[in-house]
Amino acid sequence: MPISLLPTRRTALVSAGVLALRPTFALAAESDADPHRVALLSDPHIGETTEAKDKDCNMADRLKAVVAEVAKLTPRPACAVVNGDLAHKTGTAAEYKLFAALVEPVRAAGVPLHLGLGNHDNFTRFAEGLEKLRPKDKPVEGKQVTVIEMPRANLFVLDSFDPKNAVGGILGATQLKWLAAELDARKTKPAVVCVHHPLQFDAPKSGRANGIADTTDFWPVLKDRAWVKAFVFGHTHTWRLAERDGIHLINLPAIGYPFAKTEVSGWVDAHFTEKGVKLEVRALDPKHAKHGDKAELTWRKG
Ligand SMILES: [Zn+2]
Repeated sequence: MPISLLPTRRTALVSAGVLALRPTFALAAESDADPHRVALLSDPHIGETTEAKDKDCNMADRLKAVVAEVAKLTPRPACAVVNGDLAHKTGTAAEYKLFAALVEPVRAAGVPLHLGLGNHDNFTRFAEGLEKLRPKDKPVEGKQVTVIEMPRANLFVLDSFDPKNAVGGILGATQLKWLAAELDARKTKPAVVCVHHPLQFDAPKSGRANGIADTTDFWPVLKDRAWVKAFVFGHTHTWRLAERDGIHLINLPAIGYPFAKTEVSGWVDAHFTEKGVKLEVRALDPKHAKHGDKAELTWRKG
């Protein structure tokens, strides 16, 4: 038999179903990613079933739509970040199982996915259920953190889940010490820090903070390092841009549902430039007035 008629290893694997989830085009397209493009996602709030709803929104359908859009972006983004509140309520095993199934098309398209945790998550069940979505390197015990090195910026994805507070968040001394060291090891490139919760300077050290309970410890870590240029957060389910101490504050819209019906839901397409970042809102409802909202942010000096 001529050797050319023998099945290749790949054909054999495909016929065995091994490569069924990873189509050939995804493998071929890996070199086509735009190294400066990032899909910024937040607050998908996935329930235990595909029928789960909150505020008249079906969260699974909405994440499915965003995932489908991100998975077919051309050029492909260098990565996608989901900035916390992956789960609807308390981060149950069923919520994380469904979340993993829903985000699979992004991974199958070859887009690395990075996750942060928020107040509706649960670190222990997340770590048990979504181990395959966690980085191999786990530098902060009991926290989901990662550094994404890109050509024009480094992204630091943190974990503000506080097991003692169902609404607010906390970073904690260990995570902040790690963050300071990781920032100091990367002084030559702009740094962008992602946390689920917003800043809350008057948050009590304990009790019912709605933002980051230890903001007064956290903010100086960013403010006093001139190469930190932006702080990205979710939690409020609103799309807003602001600035503090020259650092851009980027509030991502929610995917799962808006608290106020008029607020835009969706995700943000980010493109890092030499001097800052270009942002574009991708609304779930293409007729929403904020769909296609664009902003070009310039980094502070230093
Ligand atoms: Zn949320």
